[in-house]
Amino acid sequence: MRPFRYAYAADRPAALKAANDAGGSAHYLAGGTTLIDLMKLDVMRPRTVVDINALAREHSEIRVTPDALHLGALARMADVADDPAVRHAYPMIAESLDLAASPQIRNMASLGGNVLQRTRCPYFRDTGWAHCNKREPGSGCAARQSVNRKLAILGVSDHCIANYPGDFAVALAALRASVDLEGPQGRRVIPFEALHRLPGETPHIETTLKPGELITGFSVPAAPWLRRSLYLKVRDRASYEFAIASAAVALDLDGRVVRQARIGLGGVAAKPWPAPEAEAALVGQPLTPAVALAAAEAAFAQAVAPGGLAFKPELGRRTLVRAILAAGVMEV
Ligand SMILES: Cc1cc2nc3c(=O)[nH]c(=O)nc-3n(C[C@H](O)[C@H](O)[C@H](O)COP(=O)(O)OP(=O)(O)OC[C@H]3O[C@@H](n4cnc5c(N)ncnc54)[C@H](O)[C@@H]3O)c2cc1C
Ligand code: SF4
Repeated sequence: MRPFRYAYAADRPAALKAANDAGGSAHYLAGGTTLIDLMKLDVMRPRTVVDINALAREHSEIRVTPDALHLGALARMADVADDPAVRHAYPMIAESLDLAASPQIRNMASLGGNVLQRTRCPYFRDTGWAHCNKREPGSGCAARQSVNRKLAILGVSDHCIANYPGDFAVALAALRASVDLEGPQGRRVIPFEALHRLPGETPHIETTLKPGELITGFSVPAAPWLRRSLYLKVRDRASYEFAIASAAVALDLDGRVVRQARIGLGGVAAKPWPAPEAEAALVGQPLTPAVALAAAEAAFAQAVAPGGLAFKPELGRRTLVRAILAAGVMEV
């Protein structure tokens, strides 16, 4: 690991000042389960690390109100996953966290750090590979011609086919959550969908955060489809593994007819992926296997899946069909 400066921030103003003083080269340290890993691998090389764990005092809320679920960015994954009110009113959110990583990591990791975790593309994480546009802009993409079955088929570019690996962010994208931010220029709230960028020609720029900007929290609006919501994760082993394909599905039914739907896809896309085409294919339709399949086909209509990724659209479609039908028979 390279030498770096460690700064402890006692509160939010101190964190923003420390990041500002470092001139945009600082990284915030929450649970450290992504950042420290990648520093040890020499993939991330921050000159300054600003420890924000003391901000948990003001930014670790887990609050269900009639209008929304409010979550502080420093809330730990395990605390949110285990919260009875979240489990009851926002089951998709609880499941997306419960199915992620391991109990030890969930105890340590924060929500803010979770949504900012970086791709598990092996060519990005191993500096022995010279060609990675995300790690070394302009160097090429080793994954395109290599073993890449865990990478993305939606939202990719010629410059990068890395997938977004997280689970919680897929639920936030499906439920049209918002993110609270605070930076040197003040506070702002953006739709969660606007936080992550597609790779395009600049895969090394992954988010729309401004230099020094801090995530302080998330809000998920209350809605009739939340009680009938779930997160289905398909992976190589039953636990402690990232998704190869996942689906976050929330349904509001009128009898067996879909009144409204919210859908997100994980493991298959360059960023947490809402699927409005699939939602539109469900609305007004009776919830049958044929309708669920039509929605899944709509979700993957734009998939790009050469070589080792050829199996993935089918896996993604089957995962989504299973999730839609399972949500349809949930007892609410
Ligand atoms: C073996 C292993 C298996 C895993 N499996 C899964 C899985 O199945 N599903 C899944 O979703 N995740 C998985 N993860 C990822 C894990 O959930 C993340 O590493 C964790 O959530 C990151 O949170 P953290 O608080 O530790 O972040 P940190 O490592 O502290 O930070 C991560 C990044 O976010 C930045 N950051 C942190 N907080 C803020 C903030 N408030 N504002 C602005 N920037 C911030 C940091 O500067 C850093 O760049 C796994 C990780 C490991 C090591
Ligand atoms: S897919 Fe993206 S992260 Fe992986 S090697 Fe190519 S450029 Fe790097």
